[in-house]
Amino acid sequence: MDYSHFISEHSKARNPSSIRALMPYMNRKDIISLGAGQPNPATFPFAAMTITLKNGDVMEMDPELFQRCLSYDATAGLQQLQDWLKELQRIEHHPSVEYDLAIGSGSQDLLTKGLEMMINPGDVVLVEDPAYTGALAFLDSQDCKVVGTKTDDGGMIPEAFEDLLKNWADDSPRPKVLYCHPTAGNPTGISISEDRKRSIYAICQKYNIMILEDDAYYYLQFGNKRIPSYFSMDVDGRVLRCDSMSKILSSGLRLGWVTGPKVLIERMNMHTMVTNLQPSGIPQLMTYELLNKWGHEGFLNHVGEVSRFYEQKRDLFVASLDKYMKGRAEWVVPNAGMFVWLKLLNGITDSFDLVMNKALKKRVVAIPGDAFMPMGNKTPYIRVSYSNVNKEDMDEALRRLAEVIDEEAK
Ligand code: PMP
Repeated sequence: MDYSHFISEHSKARNPSSIRALMPYMNRKDIISLGAGQPNPATFPFAAMTITLKNGDVMEMDPELFQRCLSYDATAGLQQLQDWLKELQRIEHHPSVEYDLAIGSGSQDLLTKGLEMMINPGDVVLVEDPAYTGALAFLDSQDCKVVGTKTDDGGMIPEAFEDLLKNWADDSPRPKVLYCHPTAGNPTGISISEDRKRSIYAICQKYNIMILEDDAYYYLQFGNKRIPSYFSMDVDGRVLRCDSMSKILSSGLRLGWVTGPKVLIERMNMHTMVTNLQPSGIPQLMTYELLNKWGHEGFLNHVGEVSRFYEQKRDLFVASLDKYMKGRAEWVVPNAGMFVWLKLLNGITDSFDLVMNKALKKRVVAIPGDAFMPMGNKTPYIRVSYSNVNKEDMDEALRRLAEVIDEEAK
């Protein structure tokens, strides 16, 4: 593939820093380095680090790695963690293309860098309609046009996507990138099927579109089998995949990773070089030590437990929805993640005031759907999440919401 088409002028203008390029030599024992801008770690107050897991296991951080992570390190992340995650990608996705990987401060860091890398002024970015508000907020700040592609109860609709591209106005730049969240979409909670993914991938091939696969909820799929990712289907090197530890280890770690074509990962690293230099060392160390202790199989067992946790929450929440929302809203039962996208009925066309004023007065919080609308239009939808509520509170929250909907409908 000719990646120059997918690299913005802005991104092309970034040059490697000579200091960062020399970094690998600075840690070598056979080389005397006068080049380091590194502060002397002897002045750092931290001596060692031990972490206790909830099961009582105590993990002592490897002393050498700990010292290393207290200092500046590689732009793409701790090498040992990169290697571990590369192997995870191989085991989980069986990619048939060559790929490189970089670690970031959460997947948000990487998906915004990925988008920024591809957008020239005036470019068009395709997004699912509705789409993750965190990506929309970033795109809003860029000099680009955001165009939504239709979704239904099964997520993105391949036929609508193809129609959009087939009927593209000649005087408008053709879109280069599709930003999508195929698993447990935020806000819809819907996961797109393998068949639809294959069709969408083929359409992207036909129209030469890169896929930015934001799969933060990938490991929260219920049941034993996960739907194959776009990355696993990729034969051209047209998928840039973002993963996250936020939903499976800890969101405060701020740890995500991007996998994709080497040329593009290099460009993203160049972005990191000129902005935050590298992902933070200590979260990477904590993550690596844990993953290394667990092994890949142990990690996959852990995500299985996490997904079962959310599945049980989903079941409880759906029971509450059946009890309080029947006739007041419509929804699709999610098979992954933590969200339900509720379409309010009874003639409600705009959920904003209902959520921001009336529901709040009754002391219940939901997210108004317009936050996720690529074109900013009004919508009767609201996003509700079951991740942090117990059964009693689920019932009570939905009972209060039901009251608000009834009052609104009067
Ligand atoms: N993508 C989606 C769809 C999300 O919902 C989120 C978190 N809300 C992110 C990315 C960002 O996650 P992270 O914590 O890895 O930056």
